[in-house]
Amino acid sequence: MIRTLLIGSGNAGKIAEYRRMLAGLPLRVIGADELVPVPPEPAEDHDTYAANARAKAEAYAAATGLATIADDSGLEVDALGGAPGVRSRRYLGERATAEDRNAKLLALLEEAPQRDARFVCVLALAHPGGPTELFEGIVRGEIARAPRYGHEGWGFGYDPVFVVGGDGRTMAELSPEEKDALSHRGLAVAKLRAHLGAEPR
Ligand code: IMP
Repeated sequence: MIRTLLIGSGNAGKIAEYRRMLAGLPLRVIGADELVPVPPEPAEDHDTYAANARAKAEAYAAATGLATIADDSGLEVDALGGAPGVRSRRYLGERATAEDRNAKLLALLEEAPQRDARFVCVLALAHPGGPTELFEGIVRGEIARAPRYGHEGWGFGYDPVFVVGGDGRTMAELSPEEKDALSHRGLAVAKLRAHLGAEPR
């Protein structure tokens, strides 16, 4: 029985999403950003989301002795053969900003015949000294013609260029609750919640 669950991420946007999506569970949820000192995020040097998610969750769990979730996620664009994919965060190198990555993506797709894409999330739940379980979520959409931002300060990464849900809005234009209900991370968390015996949200 898990009493405390650590969110193993160095990404403030992701931690905020997990906090919301895990609300109501009979668990104390701690973000890695609350630990003192804040541990460095483990490297993501594997070739698959699953291996990266597992390595991150297990590293945080081993360092803290806490049950830990960590995910690896990415954007896969059909016309780019699935890129940036598992390299989504490192696309264009460590110093590039999300705006740089989005601008590059739009430039690469200028002549593309179709703009289909998907977000993938593999969420790992590591138990210190025990097994690690994996949960996957995928959401399909398409790449916008230009970035569109919605809520002030909300959304991160590729959200402003990913159109989802049928009404033409980008992921950054959805409310936080709307994003949670249909995002790749939200779908993976729904599986985690079911695994933990929680009511669906
Ligand atoms: P990582 O899972 O920490 O390696 O991050 C993967 C990268 O994929 C992030 O830095 C973002 O660039 C992108 N990404 C993953 N999930 C999302 C999302 O929900 N919205 C926008 N971008 C995302």
